[in-house]
Amino acid sequence: MKKRIGVFLCFIMLFWIAGCTGDTDKPSKREKLDNGIYTSYGAMGIESPTGFYHVDSEGFLYFFDYGVKQDAIVCTKPNCKHESWDENTLDEEKCAAYIKTNLGGVTGFVWDEKLYLFQRDDENIEEPGNFLIESELNRGEQKKIAKVPGMVIYSFAVKDGKVYVTGNKAELKKENGVTTQSSMTVSDLYEIELDSGEIRPLLQEQKHYNGSFEILGADSQKLYLIYSWFEKEFDGTNYEETNRQVHYYEYDLKTGEYKETFMNLDGWQVDKISVYGDRIFVVLSPQGQRGTEENLSYAAAEYKDGVFEKIADCQEFPRMFSDCVIYKEKGGEDFQYFWFEDRKPKKLKVKNLDEYYLMDAGGWFYVEQNSDMSYEMVKKEDFFEGKDGVKIH
Ligand SMILES: [Zn+2]
Repeated sequence: MKKRIGVFLCFIMLFWIAGCTGDTDKPSKREKLDNGIYTSYGAMGIESPTGFYHVDSEGFLYFFDYGVKQDAIVCTKPNCKHESWDENTLDEEKCAAYIKTNLGGVTGFVWDEKLYLFQRDDENIEEPGNFLIESELNRGEQKKIAKVPGMVIYSFAVKDGKVYVTGNKAELKKENGVTTQSSMTVSDLYEIELDSGEIRPLLQEQKHYNGSFEILGADSQKLYLIYSWFEKEFDGTNYEETNRQVHYYEYDLKTGEYKETFMNLDGWQVDKISVYGDRIFVVLSPQGQRGTEENLSYAAAEYKDGVFEKIADCQEFPRMFSDCVIYKEKGGEDFQYFWFEDRKPKKLKVKNLDEYYLMDAGGWFYVEQNSDMSYEMVKKEDFFEGKDGVKIH
């Protein structure tokens, strides 16, 4: 029993970590294939055409400019000391760069020369949700334009001035006059018009225990969604009995058709999707029977004509990005990297990859080095060659 719980926690961790979202001044491999949709799945930073937004450990927003290769705090208030603030601070003294972060990162996007951030509504406990806050790129003129129901914004997609985002909302229960969240969740997919802030649900509410409904990825026509839930209420010990369900769906952005996809997975679970042009790459992890094997294995694969073509069987979770994947082949010694464009695995020159947390930033990586908690921005190909990047924060 203990082992199963461990495996379960491992899945949860992977789920969170997996989210975890330019060459020599020419457009990045991916930009050339831009299909007009921006997707974010567990990303802790924001890509824009000109740079990358990220937060430091204290919650101040920075922008790394790809052109000048410099990092700067996102606050242009005159004489601002860039200090944290609370509700009692006078508006004119609030540093524009300070944000209450969700899970230590920043979630949002850039659209039409405006910056949009999702920020949790901490005041209204009865109706948990996240505000979508629009501002100038330098955080000037902030305004709340919409509120998305649910606890955490983990994934979304943006296309043609519309945001597609899922909401997972715990039902509230009242006991002895105290309101708490129950484990019954209501999930839906929403569409927000950026012009008007109008938000509307696109599906029928889906109600289950511990439901988690997220947008795994998208191409120019479809959203790919993962929905997991428990059939029975989880009490902390009965994982086996909860009969966890994992299902995949696609939502057609033109017709609104919603149907199940990725059906015959043979004990695998799709944990991450990268849409590269018109091709779909996935990370597979074990589920059910596979998850109980002594020797767990993962896989990186391409999804083509309804089947998964494996790139490699891997002994640990492959790190998949928008244009490449890093993995260690089962039984292999070295990490390999694989550009989706040329599809040839090459040996990674970085030693101790485990020391690095990597976040996708277009043609760059945002790199956190665990050994000394230093941060840098490195072009992907430089990182693969073991070269240093630009120190940030
Ligand atoms: Zn400031």
